[in-house]
Amino acid sequence: METVVTESASIAAARINRGEVVAFPTETVYGLGADITNEKALQKIFTAKGRPPDNPLIVHIHSPEQILEVASEITEASEILIRHFFPGPLTLILRKKRSVSPLISAGLPTVGIRCPSHPVAAAFLRQCNHPIAAPSANISGRPSSTDWEAVYEDLKGKISCVLKGSQSTIGVESTIIDCSVDPPRMLRSGAVSLESLQQIVPGITAAGTVEDEQHPRSPGLKYPHYSPSARIKLCGEGYPDCKGEKNSAWIGLSTPPEGIKKMVVCRNIEEYAYKLFSFFRECDREKIAVIFCEMPPEREIGRAIRDRLLRAAEEHHG
Ligand code: AMP
Ligand code: MG
Repeated sequence: METVVTESASIAAARINRGEVVAFPTETVYGLGADITNEKALQKIFTAKGRPPDNPLIVHIHSPEQILEVASEITEASEILIRHFFPGPLTLILRKKRSVSPLISAGLPTVGIRCPSHPVAAAFLRQCNHPIAAPSANISGRPSSTDWEAVYEDLKGKISCVLKGSQSTIGVESTIIDCSVDPPRMLRSGAVSLESLQQIVPGITAAGTVEDEQHPRSPGLKYPHYSPSARIKLCGEGYPDCKGEKNSAWIGLSTPPEGIKKMVVCRNIEEYAYKLFSFFRECDREKIAVIFCEMPPEREIGRAIRDRLLRAAEEHHG
């Protein structure tokens, strides 16, 4: 299949409206979308990514009014969260309408819903006939794509179209809040911090961290994730010191020891999030063997970075 790369939201929307699969930019990471009413198109997402069928998809909408096309009810807490954080990097889990395909919900009674703030995503979603189901636009298990080149690297020849935008400004996936339970629970950390959520809805609890995943409520969380081919070694406070190895790289907030071949020293945690996945991919292109990742402080987006790093490192620990 020829994969068209375009900057035109209307060309991309026309393709998705006729049942094809299209990658598009958002402020978190690039998404791989299909029309929620087209089962054949939804199936193509799983095939292109090699995604396990029991990992549900997030439905993307252009405005809060579209929520009732997929959710059967809007809870009090979700209404408050929508008012404060939509559009933006927050996904809400709500009870689904019967009409929502089990391919999207992976058989769960709930559906994940997000309204991206990225202007290209918004323009694209407005021209789609229906809401768009989209996981991240990468081969399953690989680091998420934060620029169109990464999408192309993974999915060229497997999808119809890439809507080209600039690099995703946030760089890690959305925060997921399960609003189908009371009080709501955070299933995945992201750019909207637990601190800012708790200011608005004080009862929100944190769950879904790598450490407490014996019984994950978010099915996708049990799979290996975000892994480059290079080995990930965590370092920093509470973790071993990094010892420069031949053919190794470093990403973190402080200066690495001698002997590192390639490095990014980030000015703050926001920059760390922005650069993380593209750095993993760059290291793979340069055949780096080991990437040392300094654990950032456990606050705000640092919580999301720590979560992604722990998962990226996990696979290699068995
Ligand atoms: P991705 O967009 O690739 O980050 O994948 C979507 C994430 O959202 C996965 O981790 C899913 O497990 C999670 N997700 C989507 N829908 C639901 C749902 N109804 N309940 C819990 N988690 C969900
Ligand atoms: Mg993903």
